[in-house]
Amino acid sequence: PVRTKLDLLSGIEDSLALLQHRIKASGVEVALSHPDSPALVEGIAGELSQVWTNLIVNALDAIEKSPSPRLRIEILQGKAHTAVKISDNGPGIPSELQSRIFQPFFTTKAAGVGTGMGLDLIRQIVERHGGAISLDSRPGETTFEIQLPLS
Ligand code: ADP
Ligand code: MG
Repeated sequence: PVRTKLDLLSGIEDSLALLQHRIKASGVEVALSHPDSPALVEGIAGELSQVWTNLIVNALDAIEKSPSPRLRIEILQGKAHTAVKISDNGPGIPSELQSRIFQPFFTTKAAGVGTGMGLDLIRQIVERHGGAISLDSRPGETTFEIQLPLS
């Protein structure tokens, strides 16, 4: 896999497009905000697209049954880093589970539904790209923040 210069916004838009049927069917309100100038990172396109897709799928899993499901994605540009925040208004992740969700095979989903591999893979990809992932979750608001070095 070759590293290229990638526009984060178009990668995220591609993932949203991939999931648009599910988003529409569940009536999820999506808000996407981004800086005026493109946030460029050096990376492997297919890997980063797995990061966005997996995080959005987790958010959809968390909000799909709620009466007013909301997904918010923010791209923020710093001097050396760019941050992507993916937030949902689902039930949140109990604090006693928050340290375990990045472990391989950890899932709270039914057998055959969740593999528990998503966040483990996401973290590996993000770290290989020189970045970091963090979590902030309470009932009604869960945010995963990915920091990546700007190219
Ligand atoms: P999977 O989605 O297959 O269960 P993941 O590694 O993607 O595996 O996620 C692990 C667990 O983390 C999930 O089973 C769920 O309990 C929790 N989780 C992840 N994202 C969210 C979220 N946005 N809201 C609530 N719980 C979440
Ligand atoms: Mg998952």
